[in-house]
Amino acid sequence: MATTISTPDNVAATTLRVTNPRNGEELYTIIEPDATAIEAVFTTARETAGTISAMTVRQRLDALQKMSDYILEHKESIIDRIVSETGKTRAEALLTEIFSTLDLIQYYGKTAERDLADQKVPTPVILFGKKSRIFLEPLGTVLIISPWNYPFNLSMTPIITALVTGNSVVFKPSEYTPLKGLLEEIFDGSGFPKDIVQVVYGGKNTGRQLIDQQPNKVFFTGSEAAGKAIMAHCAQYLIPVELELGGKDPFIVFEDANIPRAANGALWGSYTNCGQTCTSVERIIVHESIYDKFVETLVDEMKHLKTPLQHTPNCHPNDMDMGCMTADFQVAKVEEQIDDAIAKGAKIYIGGKRQDDSHNIPPTLIGNVTPDMIMYAEETFGPVAIVIPFKDEAEAIRLANDTRYGLSSSVWTDDLVRAERVARAIVTGNVSINNVLATQGNAALPFGGTKASGMGRYKGTVGLHSFSNIKSVMIDKNSGRFEPIWYPYTAEKYALLQRLVDSAFKGTILQTIFVGLGLERLEKKRHY
Ligand code: NAD
Repeated sequence: MATTISTPDNVAATTLRVTNPRNGEELYTIIEPDATAIEAVFTTARETAGTISAMTVRQRLDALQKMSDYILEHKESIIDRIVSETGKTRAEALLTEIFSTLDLIQYYGKTAERDLADQKVPTPVILFGKKSRIFLEPLGTVLIISPWNYPFNLSMTPIITALVTGNSVVFKPSEYTPLKGLLEEIFDGSGFPKDIVQVVYGGKNTGRQLIDQQPNKVFFTGSEAAGKAIMAHCAQYLIPVELELGGKDPFIVFEDANIPRAANGALWGSYTNCGQTCTSVERIIVHESIYDKFVETLVDEMKHLKTPLQHTPNCHPNDMDMGCMTADFQVAKVEEQIDDAIAKGAKIYIGGKRQDDSHNIPPTLIGNVTPDMIMYAEETFGPVAIVIPFKDEAEAIRLANDTRYGLSSSVWTDDLVRAERVARAIVTGNVSINNVLATQGNAALPFGGTKASGMGRYKGTVGLHSFSNIKSVMIDKNSGRFEPIWYPYTAEKYALLQRLVDSAFKGTILQTIFVGLGLERLEKKRHY
Protein backbone atom coordinates (compact mmCIF):
# COMPACT_ATOMS: atom_id res chain seq x y z
CA MET A 1 0.00 0.00 0.00
CA ALA A 2 1.19 3.55 -0.64
CA THR A 3 0.53 6.57 1.55
CA THR A 4 -0.75 10.03 0.69
CA ILE A 5 0.68 12.82 2.79
CA SER A 6 -1.39 15.85 3.59
CA THR A 7 -0.98 18.72 6.00
CA PRO A 8 -3.02 18.83 9.20
CA ASP A 9 -5.86 21.38 9.10
CA ASN A 10 -4.32 23.68 11.69
CA VAL A 11 -1.09 24.28 9.72
CA ALA A 12 -0.78 27.06 7.14
CA ALA A 13 0.25 25.48 3.87
CA THR A 14 0.38 26.33 0.20
CA THR A 15 -2.56 25.15 -1.83
CA LEU A 16 -1.86 24.40 -5.49
CA ARG A 17 -4.54 24.20 -8.19
CA VAL A 18 -4.51 21.43 -10.76
CA THR A 19 -6.40 22.25 -13.96
CA ASN A 20 -7.50 20.57 -17.17
CA PRO A 21 -5.32 22.12 -19.90
CA ARG A 22 -8.03 21.68 -22.56
CA ASN A 23 -10.47 24.07 -20.88
CA GLY A 24 -8.77 25.53 -17.80
CA GLU A 25 -11.28 23.92 -15.41
CA GLU A 26 -10.02 23.25 -11.91
CA LEU A 27 -9.79 19.49 -11.33
CA TYR A 28 -8.73 19.58 -7.67
CA THR A 29 -6.24 21.19 -5.33
CA ILE A 30 -3.21 19.84 -3.51
CA ILE A 31 -1.94 21.10 -0.18
CA GLU A 32 1.81 21.07 0.39
CA PRO A 33 2.83 19.15 3.52
CA ASP A 34 4.53 20.81 6.48
CA ALA A 35 7.98 19.94 7.84
CA THR A 36 6.60 17.48 10.42
CA ALA A 37 4.69 15.53 7.78
CA ILE A 38 7.78 15.39 5.56
CA GLU A 39 9.92 14.12 8.43
CA ALA A 40 7.33 11.43 9.15
CA VAL A 41 7.48 10.27 5.53
CA PHE A 42 11.20 9.67 5.82
CA THR A 43 10.87 7.90 9.16
CA THR A 44 8.47 5.48 7.48
CA ALA A 45 10.62 5.25 4.36
CA ARG A 46 13.66 4.16 6.37
CA GLU A 47 11.59 1.47 8.07
CA THR A 48 10.09 0.14 4.85
CA ALA A 49 13.53 0.16 3.21
CA GLY A 50 14.20 -2.77 5.51
CA THR A 51 11.01 -4.52 4.40
CA ILE A 52 11.74 -4.37 0.68
CA SER A 53 15.45 -5.11 0.98
CA ALA A 54 14.54 -8.29 2.89
CA MET A 55 12.37 -9.47 -0.04
CA THR A 56 14.11 -11.54 -2.71
CA VAL A 57 14.31 -10.07 -6.21
CA ARG A 58 11.72 -12.64 -7.31
CA GLN A 59 9.31 -11.60 -4.55
CA ARG A 60 9.66 -7.94 -5.60
CA LEU A 61 9.08 -8.90 -9.24
CA ASP A 62 6.01 -10.96 -8.32
CA ALA A 63 4.53 -7.98 -6.46
CA LEU A 64 5.27 -5.75 -9.46
CA GLN A 65 3.70 -8.29 -11.82
CA LYS A 66 0.46 -8.04 -9.81
CA MET A 67 0.70 -4.28 -10.16
CA SER A 68 1.23 -4.69 -13.92
CA ASP A 69 -1.92 -6.85 -14.12
CA TYR A 70 -3.83 -4.17 -12.20
CA ILE A 71 -2.65 -1.42 -14.57
CA LEU A 72 -3.58 -3.51 -17.62
CA GLU A 73 -7.04 -4.16 -16.23
CA HIS A 74 -7.64 -0.50 -15.32
CA LYS A 75 -5.82 1.09 -18.26
CA GLU A 76 -8.79 3.05 -19.63
CA SER A 77 -9.52 4.77 -16.32
CA ILE A 78 -5.80 5.48 -15.85
CA ILE A 79 -5.72 7.00 -19.35
CA ASP A 80 -8.73 9.17 -18.40
CA ARG A 81 -6.72 10.61 -15.51
CA ILE A 82 -3.57 11.17 -17.59
CA VAL A 83 -5.49 12.83 -20.43
CA SER A 84 -7.48 15.11 -18.12
CA GLU A 85 -4.30 16.51 -16.54
CA THR A 86 -1.94 16.61 -19.54
CA GLY A 87 -4.20 17.25 -22.55
CA LYS A 88 -2.41 14.52 -24.54
CA THR A 89 -4.23 12.11 -26.85
CA ARG A 90 -5.47 8.75 -25.63
CA ALA A 91 -3.25 6.89 -28.12
CA GLU A 92 -0.19 8.71 -26.73
CA ALA A 93 -1.23 7.86 -23.18
CA LEU A 94 -1.82 4.21 -24.09
CA LEU A 95 1.52 3.72 -25.84
CA THR A 96 4.02 6.01 -24.16
CA GLU A 97 2.61 5.96 -20.64
CA ILE A 98 0.91 2.57 -20.13
CA PHE A 99 2.59 0.24 -22.63
CA SER A 100 6.13 1.37 -21.84
CA THR A 101 5.50 0.95 -18.10
CA LEU A 102 4.16 -2.59 -18.50
CA ASP A 103 6.98 -3.41 -20.92
CA LEU A 104 9.59 -2.38 -18.34
CA ILE A 105 8.03 -4.64 -15.69
CA GLN A 106 7.98 -7.52 -18.18
CA TYR A 107 11.64 -6.87 -19.08
CA TYR A 108 12.75 -6.81 -15.43
CA GLY A 109 10.67 -9.97 -14.86
CA LYS A 110 12.93 -11.77 -17.33
CA THR A 111 16.29 -10.18 -16.51
CA ALA A 112 16.49 -8.60 -13.05
CA GLU A 113 17.24 -11.78 -11.07
CA ARG A 114 20.26 -12.39 -13.30
CA ASP A 115 21.33 -8.73 -13.36
CA LEU A 116 21.14 -8.35 -9.57
CA ALA A 117 22.69 -11.71 -8.65
CA ASP A 118 26.08 -11.79 -6.91
CA GLN A 119 28.80 -11.68 -9.54
CA LYS A 120 32.10 -13.58 -9.60
CA VAL A 121 35.04 -11.76 -11.15
CA PRO A 122 38.54 -13.12 -11.83
CA THR A 123 41.22 -12.76 -9.17
CA PRO A 124 44.81 -12.10 -10.38
CA VAL A 125 47.55 -14.60 -9.65
CA ILE A 126 49.24 -12.10 -7.36
CA LEU A 127 46.22 -12.53 -5.02
CA PHE A 128 46.48 -16.32 -5.26
CA GLY A 129 44.06 -18.29 -3.10
CA LYS A 130 41.43 -15.56 -2.78
CA LYS A 131 38.00 -15.13 -4.42
CA SER A 132 36.47 -11.90 -5.73
CA ARG A 133 32.74 -11.15 -5.71
CA ILE A 134 30.39 -8.23 -6.38
CA PHE A 135 27.21 -7.89 -4.28
CA LEU A 136 24.46 -5.65 -5.66
CA GLU A 137 22.54 -4.27 -2.72
CA PRO A 138 19.78 -1.69 -2.21
CA LEU A 139 20.79 1.90 -1.48
CA GLY A 140 18.03 2.54 1.09
CA THR A 141 15.47 5.24 0.27
CA VAL A 142 15.36 6.84 -3.17
CA LEU A 143 13.70 10.22 -3.73
CA ILE A 144 12.15 10.48 -7.20
CA ILE A 145 11.13 13.90 -8.52
CA SER A 146 9.19 13.92 -11.79
CA PRO A 147 8.09 16.35 -14.52
CA TRP A 148 4.62 16.89 -16.00
CA ASN A 149 5.08 15.76 -19.61
CA TYR A 150 4.79 11.98 -19.06
CA PRO A 151 3.45 11.99 -15.52
CA PHE A 152 2.79 8.26 -15.40
CA ASN A 153 5.69 6.66 -17.26
CA LEU A 154 8.44 9.03 -16.10
CA SER A 155 7.32 8.41 -12.53
CA MET A 156 6.72 4.68 -12.75
CA THR A 157 9.96 3.88 -14.62
CA PRO A 158 12.30 5.09 -11.84
CA ILE A 159 9.89 3.92 -9.11
CA ILE A 160 9.78 0.38 -10.55
CA THR A 161 13.57 0.34 -10.98
CA ALA A 162 14.05 1.49 -7.39
CA LEU A 163 11.67 -1.22 -6.16
CA VAL A 164 13.21 -4.06 -8.18
CA THR A 165 16.58 -3.14 -6.68
CA GLY A 166 15.08 -3.24 -3.16
CA ASN A 167 14.77 0.42 -2.23
CA SER A 168 11.90 2.23 -0.58
CA VAL A 169 10.63 5.23 -2.54
CA VAL A 170 9.54 8.74 -1.73
CA PHE A 171 7.97 10.16 -4.85
CA LYS A 172 7.13 13.79 -5.63
CA PRO A 173 5.15 14.23 -8.83
CA SER A 174 4.99 17.50 -10.74
CA GLU A 175 2.64 20.08 -9.26
CA TYR A 176 1.12 20.50 -12.76
CA THR A 177 0.10 16.86 -13.28
CA PRO A 178 0.20 15.15 -9.87
CA LEU A 179 -2.42 12.48 -10.79
CA LYS A 180 -3.52 12.77 -7.17
CA GLY A 181 -4.26 9.43 -5.58
CA LEU A 182 -3.64 7.38 -8.74
CA LEU A 183 -0.38 5.72 -7.77
CA GLU A 184 -1.68 5.02 -4.26
CA GLU A 185 -4.75 3.38 -5.84
CA ILE A 186 -2.54 1.22 -8.09
CA PHE A 187 -0.12 0.12 -5.35
CA ASP A 188 -2.92 -0.49 -2.82
CA GLY A 189 -5.26 -2.09 -5.33
CA SER A 190 -2.63 -4.59 -6.46
CA GLY A 191 -1.67 -5.49 -2.88
CA PHE A 192 1.86 -4.06 -2.94
CA PRO A 193 3.45 -4.17 0.56
CA LYS A 194 2.43 -1.16 2.65
CA ASP A 195 4.25 2.18 2.63
CA ILE A 196 7.20 1.10 0.50
CA VAL A 197 6.15 3.81 -1.95
CA GLN A 198 5.00 7.11 -0.45
CA VAL A 199 3.71 9.96 -2.61
CA VAL A 200 4.24 13.53 -1.46
CA TYR A 201 2.39 16.28 -3.33
CA GLY A 202 3.76 19.77 -3.75
CA GLY A 203 5.94 22.10 -5.78
CA LYS A 204 9.62 23.08 -5.73
CA ASN A 205 9.60 23.98 -2.07
CA THR A 206 8.31 20.55 -1.11
CA GLY A 207 10.99 19.05 -3.36
CA ARG A 208 13.69 21.00 -1.51
CA GLN A 209 12.38 19.90 1.88
CA LEU A 210 12.42 16.28 0.75
CA ILE A 211 16.09 16.58 -0.28
CA ASP A 212 16.86 18.01 3.17
CA GLN A 213 15.75 14.65 4.60
CA GLN A 214 18.85 13.19 2.95
CA PRO A 215 17.56 10.26 0.91
CA ASN A 216 20.19 7.77 -0.26
CA LYS A 217 19.75 8.87 -3.87
CA VAL A 218 17.85 11.53 -5.78
CA PHE A 219 16.55 10.61 -9.21
CA PHE A 220 15.41 13.77 -10.98
CA THR A 221 13.73 14.24 -14.34
CA GLY A 222 13.04 17.80 -15.41
CA SER A 223 14.54 21.04 -16.63
CA GLU A 224 18.21 21.99 -16.85
CA ALA A 225 17.73 24.89 -14.41
CA ALA A 226 16.06 22.74 -11.75
CA GLY A 227 18.64 20.00 -12.35
CA LYS A 228 21.46 22.42 -11.52
CA ALA A 229 19.66 23.61 -8.37
CA ILE A 230 19.00 20.04 -7.25
CA MET A 231 22.57 18.94 -7.88
CA ALA A 232 23.88 21.89 -5.86
CA HIS A 233 21.43 21.08 -3.07
CA CYS A 234 22.39 17.38 -3.05
CA ALA A 235 26.08 18.36 -2.98
CA GLN A 236 25.58 19.84 0.51
CA TYR A 237 24.85 16.33 1.80
CA LEU A 238 26.84 14.40 -0.84
CA ILE A 239 23.66 12.66 -1.95
CA PRO A 240 24.21 10.82 -5.26
CA VAL A 241 22.02 12.40 -7.90
CA GLU A 242 20.90 11.27 -11.32
CA LEU A 243 19.69 13.96 -13.72
CA GLU A 244 17.50 13.36 -16.77
CA LEU A 245 17.21 16.82 -18.32
CA GLY A 246 16.27 18.56 -21.56
CA GLY A 247 17.42 18.26 -25.15
CA LYS A 248 17.72 19.98 -28.52
CA ASP A 249 17.83 16.80 -30.54
CA PRO A 250 19.16 16.67 -34.12
CA PHE A 251 17.62 14.60 -36.91
CA ILE A 252 20.01 14.25 -39.85
CA VAL A 253 18.64 13.31 -43.29
CA PHE A 254 21.18 12.38 -45.98
CA GLU A 255 20.45 12.61 -49.70
CA ASP A 256 20.00 8.80 -50.02
CA ALA A 257 17.35 8.54 -47.28
CA ASN A 258 13.84 7.37 -48.04
CA ILE A 259 12.18 10.80 -48.03
CA PRO A 260 8.55 9.85 -47.26
CA ARG A 261 9.63 7.59 -44.36
CA ALA A 262 12.11 10.14 -42.99
CA ALA A 263 9.51 12.93 -43.26
CA ASN A 264 6.98 10.83 -41.37
CA GLY A 265 9.64 10.02 -38.77
CA ALA A 266 10.31 13.75 -38.36
CA LEU A 267 6.58 14.40 -38.16
CA TRP A 268 6.02 11.99 -35.30
CA GLY A 269 9.32 12.74 -33.60
CA SER A 270 8.68 16.48 -33.57
CA TYR A 271 5.00 16.61 -32.70
CA THR A 272 4.27 13.57 -30.54
CA ASN A 273 3.01 14.65 -27.13
CA CYS A 274 2.66 18.11 -28.68
CA GLY A 275 6.45 18.38 -28.85
CA GLN A 276 6.67 18.17 -25.06
CA THR A 277 9.11 15.26 -25.08
CA CYS A 278 12.67 15.59 -23.81
CA THR A 279 13.83 13.61 -26.87
CA SER A 280 11.55 15.28 -29.40
CA VAL A 281 13.08 16.17 -32.76
CA GLU A 282 13.96 19.86 -32.61
CA ARG A 283 16.53 20.41 -35.37
CA ILE A 284 15.92 18.67 -38.71
CA ILE A 285 19.24 18.83 -40.57
CA VAL A 286 18.68 17.97 -44.26
CA HIS A 287 21.10 17.57 -47.18
CA GLU A 288 20.77 20.61 -49.45
CA SER A 289 20.04 18.46 -52.52
CA ILE A 290 16.78 17.14 -51.02
CA TYR A 291 15.95 20.09 -48.75
CA ASP A 292 13.03 21.47 -50.81
CA LYS A 293 11.54 18.04 -51.48
CA PHE A 294 11.84 17.04 -47.83
CA VAL A 295 10.27 20.26 -46.53
CA GLU A 296 7.44 19.98 -49.07
CA THR A 297 6.72 16.36 -48.02
CA LEU A 298 6.84 17.18 -44.30
CA VAL A 299 4.63 20.26 -44.64
CA ASP A 300 2.13 18.23 -46.65
CA GLU A 301 2.01 15.58 -43.91
CA MET A 302 1.66 18.28 -41.25
CA LYS A 303 -1.46 19.61 -42.98
CA HIS A 304 -3.08 16.22 -42.38
CA LEU A 305 -2.37 16.05 -38.65
CA LYS A 306 -5.61 15.90 -36.67
CA THR A 307 -5.18 18.53 -33.98
CA PRO A 308 -7.71 20.11 -31.60
CA LEU A 309 -7.62 23.16 -33.93
CA GLN A 310 -9.33 21.34 -36.81
CA HIS A 311 -11.62 19.31 -34.59
CA THR A 312 -14.71 20.37 -32.74
CA PRO A 313 -14.47 19.91 -28.98
CA ASN A 314 -16.84 16.94 -29.32
CA CYS A 315 -14.72 14.89 -31.72
CA HIS A 316 -13.92 11.35 -30.62
CA PRO A 317 -10.91 11.42 -28.28
CA ASN A 318 -9.47 8.23 -29.79
CA ASP A 319 -9.37 9.85 -33.23
CA MET A 320 -6.78 12.58 -32.66
CA ASP A 321 -3.09 12.86 -33.63
CA MET A 322 -2.23 15.70 -31.30
CA GLY A 323 -3.59 17.00 -28.04
CA CYS A 324 -2.94 20.40 -26.53
CA MET A 325 0.04 21.68 -24.55
CA THR A 326 -0.05 20.98 -20.83
CA ALA A 327 1.35 23.93 -18.89
CA ASP A 328 0.44 27.57 -19.48
CA PHE A 329 3.97 28.79 -18.67
CA GLN A 330 5.36 26.53 -21.42
CA VAL A 331 2.82 27.81 -23.95
CA ALA A 332 4.05 31.35 -23.19
CA LYS A 333 7.73 30.31 -23.49
CA VAL A 334 7.17 28.60 -26.87
CA GLU A 335 5.24 31.61 -28.19
CA GLU A 336 8.02 33.92 -27.10
CA GLN A 337 10.48 31.79 -29.10
CA ILE A 338 8.24 31.86 -32.20
CA ASP A 339 7.75 35.64 -31.93
CA ASP A 340 11.48 36.18 -31.50
CA ALA A 341 12.29 34.00 -34.53
CA ILE A 342 9.72 35.80 -36.71
CA ALA A 343 10.99 39.23 -35.60
CA LYS A 344 14.55 38.24 -36.51
CA GLY A 345 13.65 37.00 -40.01
CA ALA A 346 12.90 33.26 -39.69
CA LYS A 347 10.70 31.62 -42.30
CA ILE A 348 7.50 29.94 -41.09
CA TYR A 349 6.80 27.03 -43.44
CA ILE A 350 3.62 26.11 -41.60
CA GLY A 351 2.01 26.84 -38.24
CA GLY A 352 3.04 29.76 -36.09
CA LYS A 353 1.09 31.66 -33.49
CA ARG A 354 -1.96 30.65 -31.46
CA GLN A 355 -5.30 31.88 -32.76
CA ASP A 356 -6.78 32.25 -29.26
CA ASP A 357 -5.76 31.91 -25.62
CA SER A 358 -6.07 28.09 -25.61
CA HIS A 359 -3.11 25.74 -25.13
CA ASN A 360 -3.21 24.90 -28.86
CA ILE A 361 -0.09 26.04 -30.67
CA PRO A 362 -0.36 24.63 -34.22
CA PRO A 363 2.34 22.20 -35.37
CA THR A 364 5.03 24.54 -36.65
CA LEU A 365 8.03 24.17 -38.97
CA ILE A 366 10.54 27.01 -39.20
CA GLY A 367 13.48 27.69 -41.56
CA ASN A 368 16.26 30.32 -41.69
CA VAL A 369 16.82 30.06 -37.93
CA THR A 370 20.03 31.89 -37.01
CA PRO A 371 22.18 31.69 -33.84
CA ASP A 372 20.85 35.05 -32.57
CA MET A 373 17.34 33.58 -32.23
CA ILE A 374 16.32 32.09 -28.86
CA MET A 375 15.14 28.86 -30.43
CA TYR A 376 18.51 28.17 -32.08
CA ALA A 377 20.06 27.09 -28.77
CA GLU A 378 17.23 26.81 -26.22
CA GLU A 379 15.03 23.75 -25.85
CA THR A 380 11.64 24.38 -27.50
CA PHE A 381 9.24 22.34 -25.38
CA GLY A 382 6.28 22.51 -27.74
CA PRO A 383 5.13 21.57 -31.29
CA VAL A 384 7.88 23.44 -33.12
CA ALA A 385 10.81 22.12 -35.18
CA ILE A 386 13.43 23.96 -37.17
CA VAL A 387 14.89 22.77 -40.46
CA ILE A 388 18.49 23.45 -41.51
CA PRO A 389 20.27 22.54 -44.79
CA PHE A 390 23.79 21.00 -44.87
CA LYS A 391 26.40 20.47 -47.62
CA ASP A 392 28.39 17.43 -46.49
CA GLU A 393 28.77 14.88 -43.68
CA ALA A 394 31.24 17.00 -41.74
CA GLU A 395 28.84 19.94 -41.72
CA ALA A 396 25.93 17.72 -40.65
CA ILE A 397 27.96 16.46 -37.67
CA ARG A 398 29.09 19.97 -36.79
CA LEU A 399 25.49 21.24 -36.82
CA ALA A 400 24.24 18.23 -34.82
CA ASN A 401 26.84 18.89 -32.11
CA ASP A 402 26.32 22.66 -32.12
CA THR A 403 24.23 22.53 -28.92
CA ARG A 404 24.92 22.43 -25.22
CA TYR A 405 22.56 19.42 -25.00
CA GLY A 406 23.16 15.78 -25.91
CA LEU A 407 20.14 13.61 -25.21
CA SER A 408 19.00 11.81 -28.36
CA SER A 409 19.42 11.99 -32.13
CA SER A 410 18.46 10.40 -35.40
CA VAL A 411 20.38 9.59 -38.61
CA TRP A 412 18.67 8.74 -41.90
CA THR A 413 20.61 7.20 -44.82
CA ASP A 414 20.75 4.13 -47.02
CA ASP A 415 24.47 3.80 -46.22
CA LEU A 416 24.69 1.98 -42.87
CA VAL A 417 28.47 2.39 -42.68
CA ARG A 418 28.01 6.15 -42.88
CA ALA A 419 25.10 5.96 -40.43
CA GLU A 420 27.28 4.21 -37.84
CA ARG A 421 30.15 6.65 -38.41
CA VAL A 422 27.84 9.62 -37.85
CA ALA A 423 26.16 7.93 -34.85
CA ARG A 424 29.60 7.67 -33.19
CA ALA A 425 30.45 11.29 -34.01
CA ILE A 426 27.34 12.79 -32.39
CA VAL A 427 27.89 13.65 -28.72
CA THR A 428 24.68 12.23 -27.30
CA GLY A 429 23.18 9.53 -25.09
CA ASN A 430 20.96 7.91 -27.74
CA VAL A 431 20.94 7.48 -31.53
CA SER A 432 18.25 5.93 -33.72
CA ILE A 433 19.36 4.98 -37.24
CA ASN A 434 16.62 5.28 -39.88
CA ASN A 435 14.17 5.67 -37.03
CA VAL A 436 13.24 8.16 -34.37
CA LEU A 437 12.89 8.02 -30.56
CA ALA A 438 13.33 4.27 -31.03
CA THR A 439 15.99 3.58 -28.38
CA GLN A 440 13.43 4.42 -25.70
CA GLY A 441 11.28 1.58 -27.01
CA ASN A 442 13.71 -1.07 -25.76
CA ALA A 443 13.88 -1.47 -21.98
CA ALA A 444 17.22 -3.27 -22.38
CA LEU A 445 18.88 -0.10 -23.68
CA PRO A 446 20.16 2.32 -21.03
CA PHE A 447 18.66 5.81 -21.24
CA GLY A 448 20.28 9.13 -20.32
CA GLY A 449 22.04 12.18 -21.65
CA THR A 450 25.42 13.84 -22.09
CA LYS A 451 26.42 17.52 -21.61
CA ALA A 452 23.52 19.67 -20.27
CA SER A 453 21.07 16.80 -20.87
CA GLY A 454 22.12 15.26 -17.58
CA MET A 455 24.07 12.41 -16.08
CA GLY A 456 23.51 8.78 -15.25
CA ARG A 457 21.69 6.04 -17.12
CA TYR A 458 18.54 4.16 -16.25
CA LYS A 459 16.86 1.08 -17.72
CA GLY A 460 18.82 -1.97 -18.89
CA THR A 461 21.38 -3.70 -16.68
CA VAL A 462 23.23 -0.42 -16.11
CA GLY A 463 20.00 1.16 -14.84
CA LEU A 464 19.48 -1.52 -12.23
CA HIS A 465 23.05 -1.09 -11.10
CA SER A 466 22.62 2.68 -10.81
CA PHE A 467 19.98 2.10 -8.10
CA SER A 468 22.26 -0.33 -6.26
CA ASN A 469 25.19 -0.14 -3.91
CA ILE A 470 27.85 -2.01 -5.84
CA LYS A 471 29.81 -3.73 -3.12
CA SER A 472 33.17 -5.37 -3.86
CA VAL A 473 34.10 -8.32 -1.70
CA MET A 474 37.40 -10.25 -1.45
CA ILE A 475 37.20 -13.61 0.31
CA ASP A 476 40.35 -15.12 1.84
CA LYS A 477 40.89 -18.24 3.92
CA ASN A 478 41.02 -17.99 7.69
CA SER A 479 44.68 -19.15 7.67
CA GLY A 480 47.66 -18.06 9.75
CA ARG A 481 49.32 -16.63 6.65
CA PHE A 482 50.63 -13.06 6.61
CA GLU A 483 50.51 -11.03 3.38
CA PRO A 484 53.86 -10.11 1.79
CA ILE A 485 52.69 -6.50 1.43
CA TRP A 486 52.27 -6.17 5.20
CA TYR A 487 55.10 -4.83 7.42
CA PRO A 488 57.99 -5.01 7.91
CA TYR A 489 59.76 -3.77 4.77
CA THR A 490 63.38 -4.99 4.66
CA ALA A 491 66.12 -4.84 2.03
CA GLU A 492 65.71 -8.58 1.41
CA LYS A 493 61.96 -8.22 0.98
CA TYR A 494 62.41 -5.19 -1.27
CA ALA A 495 64.60 -7.23 -3.63
CA LEU A 496 61.92 -9.92 -3.85
CA LEU A 497 59.16 -7.32 -4.36
CA GLN A 498 61.19 -5.83 -7.24
CA ARG A 499 61.32 -9.25 -8.88
CA LEU A 500 57.59 -9.69 -8.24
CA VAL A 501 56.72 -6.43 -10.02
CA ASP A 502 59.04 -7.29 -12.95
CA SER A 503 57.63 -10.78 -13.32
CA ALA A 504 54.01 -9.57 -13.01
CA PHE A 505 54.36 -7.20 -15.96
CA LYS A 506 57.20 -8.62 -18.05
CA GLY A 507 57.59 -12.24 -16.90
CA THR A 508 55.56 -15.43 -16.85
CA ILE A 509 52.94 -16.62 -14.37
CA LEU A 510 55.37 -19.33 -13.22
CA GLN A 511 58.02 -16.70 -12.42
CA THR A 512 55.43 -14.69 -10.45
CA ILE A 513 54.39 -17.78 -8.47
CA PHE A 514 58.05 -18.60 -7.81
CA VAL A 515 58.77 -15.09 -6.42
CA GLY A 516 55.52 -15.26 -4.43
CA LEU A 517 56.67 -18.49 -2.78
CA GLY A 518 59.98 -16.77 -1.93
CA LEU A 519 58.06 -13.96 -0.21
CA GLU A 520 56.02 -16.48 1.76
CA ARG A 521 59.17 -18.30 2.91
CA LEU A 522 60.51 -14.95 4.09
CA GLU A 523 57.31 -14.23 6.04
CA LYS A 524 57.43 -17.65 7.73
CA LYS A 525 61.07 -17.15 8.71
CA ARG A 526 60.16 -13.87 10.40
CA HIS A 527 57.14 -15.02 12.37
CA TYR A 528 57.83 -18.60 13.36
P1 NAD B 1 10.94 21.30 -13.81
O1 NAD B 1 12.40 21.16 -13.70
O2 NAD B 1 10.36 22.62 -13.72
O3 NAD B 1 10.20 20.42 -12.68
C1 NAD B 1 10.41 19.02 -12.54
C2 NAD B 1 10.13 18.61 -11.12
O4 NAD B 1 11.12 19.17 -10.27
C3 NAD B 1 8.79 19.09 -10.56
O5 NAD B 1 8.28 18.03 -9.78
C4 NAD B 1 9.20 20.28 -9.69
O6 NAD B 1 8.29 20.51 -8.64
C5 NAD B 1 10.53 19.83 -9.16
N1 NAD B 1 11.48 20.88 -8.79
C6 NAD B 1 11.77 22.00 -9.49
N2 NAD B 1 12.76 22.70 -8.86
C7 NAD B 1 13.10 21.97 -7.76
C8 NAD B 1 14.05 22.15 -6.72
N3 NAD B 1 14.86 23.20 -6.68
N4 NAD B 1 14.14 21.21 -5.75
C9 NAD B 1 13.34 20.13 -5.78
N5 NAD B 1 12.40 19.91 -6.72
C10 NAD B 1 12.28 20.82 -7.71
O7 NAD B 1 10.60 20.54 -15.18
P2 NAD B 1 9.22 20.38 -15.92
O8 NAD B 1 8.83 21.70 -16.50
O9 NAD B 1 8.26 19.65 -15.04
O10 NAD B 1 9.61 19.36 -17.10
C11 NAD B 1 10.07 19.76 -18.35
C12 NAD B 1 11.54 19.53 -18.51
O11 NAD B 1 11.87 18.18 -18.20
C13 NAD B 1 12.04 19.74 -19.93
O12 NAD B 1 13.24 20.46 -19.91
C14 NAD B 1 12.27 18.33 -20.44
O13 NAD B 1 13.19 18.25 -21.49
C15 NAD B 1 12.73 17.64 -19.21
N6 NAD B 1 12.52 16.20 -19.32
C16 NAD B 1 13.62 15.38 -19.38
C17 NAD B 1 13.44 14.01 -19.54
C18 NAD B 1 14.61 13.06 -19.63
O14 NAD B 1 14.40 11.87 -19.44
N7 NAD B 1 15.81 13.52 -19.92
C19 NAD B 1 12.15 13.49 -19.62
C20 NAD B 1 11.08 14.36 -19.55
C21 NAD B 1 11.27 15.71 -19.39
